[in-house]
Amino acid sequence: MRNPHPATGQLVDQVVEMKRMLGQLARLVEISLTLNSTLDPDRLLNFIIDTGTDILECEGVSVLLYNEKTGELRFAASTGSDPEELAKIPVPLDSSIAGAIFQQDRPEIINEMESNPQHFQEVGKKTQFITRNLVGVPMKIGDRTIGVLEGVNKRHGEFGKEDVDILSVIASQAAVAINNARLLQSLQTAYNELAQSDKKKSDFIAIASHELRIPLNTVLGYAEFLREDAPPELADYAERLSKAALQLRSLVDDMTNLNLLEGGSQEFQPARQPIQRIVAEAYSETQTAAREKGHQLNIRLPKEPLDVNADGEKLKRVFLNILNNATRFTPNGGAINIAVTTHPDGVLTAIQDTGIGIPKEELERIFEQFYQVEGHMTRAYGGMGLGLAIARGIVLLHGGRIWAESDGPDKGSVFYVILPLADAKKATGALLGGNL
Ligand code: ADP
Repeated sequence: MRNPHPATGQLVDQVVEMKRMLGQLARLVEISLTLNSTLDPDRLLNFIIDTGTDILECEGVSVLLYNEKTGELRFAASTGSDPEELAKIPVPLDSSIAGAIFQQDRPEIINEMESNPQHFQEVGKKTQFITRNLVGVPMKIGDRTIGVLEGVNKRHGEFGKEDVDILSVIASQAAVAINNARLLQSLQTAYNELAQSDKKKSDFIAIASHELRIPLNTVLGYAEFLREDAPPELADYAERLSKAALQLRSLVDDMTNLNLLEGGSQEFQPARQPIQRIVAEAYSETQTAAREKGHQLNIRLPKEPLDVNADGEKLKRVFLNILNNATRFTPNGGAINIAVTTHPDGVLTAIQDTGIGIPKEELERIFEQFYQVEGHMTRAYGGMGLGLAIARGIVLLHGGRIWAESDGPDKGSVFYVILPLADAKKATGALLGGNL
């Protein structure tokens, strides 16, 4: 058998080397894909150190992350030595190799560790791990360095430029992935805190409205009693007392209603009935308030009964809230017109006033909880900004929709409510969202 030509041997070596490099490249692509699709911080860190150890062919890889509060680096994950022990050791920026890599923002290869003056002995002492050689690179996101990625103890030979290149690729991908995972985690924490404070708010409203209701009913009872029996000069005071207490109770009712609607625990007892009856009741109950402000309150109802499947008390609250607003937001001597008509989607109730109107950009927002066009601080019109949020909640519960239109300030407003007819084929809820 003839000896192979020396050039052939070289070629074989080159092919083997190329194959190795290709394998590494494939590994890097795989790493990049995994890093981009993992958002769990622990899994992410473990993946970085495991694959790093594998690809660098070394005894251990560590991720050290910078802690802005303490100004130190901390081991977030590591292979090769006791990770829990390592995590406890703060690594100072000024007297460690990782600190130098972080501060100077450049890679480092050290193949004689013991003689290196910057070697931070503390780690070796605490973990009984002997570091012979090391390669480290900064982990960066744009201009910001968030930590250091280190490999220690190359299994065969020493660390070289190629190891720096590979580690740099992993580090840049890892930095972005760690940052994303951290962002997600802080988002989740913020969300949990928000949910907790929302629950506290709901609990507070539930307790406060319950506790307010009891003394309020006592005040109302006595005020009524006084009104009936008091001499005429005192009857007026009793009447005012009674009105103030009723107003307070309506606010407490709003708070309770909102809480129930939000929690989805609002009891809903629909019964087939003509919408005319519900609208007419709301009209009657608004008459006194309208008269006091010198408003003309008009109602136009179709003769033919238009049946809806409705919880009468709740649906009446919708029209009462709209009418109450129309009365309050219309200067004395205005007109409020209620009209009920049929509509392709069911039955349409329109409540139009000649009041202060609503700017176009506010027409949606007024249905949000606690939202008031004039702001809570001016208190010119009072209220809590809950009436329309409750109205919308109840209308949606009935499978209908509600919206407002206005030509702008001082041009009056119209509030529309569409509800499905009881015998319509459409299922409840089919009308959710969208306008006419
Ligand atoms: P509140 O009346 O307690 O403030 P609402 O939720 O009932 O709360 O109404 C929210 C806001 O919508 C009101 O503060 C007001 O700015 C505006 N608004 C509601 N109805 C009218 C109306 N008929 N005319 C003008 N603005 C209105």
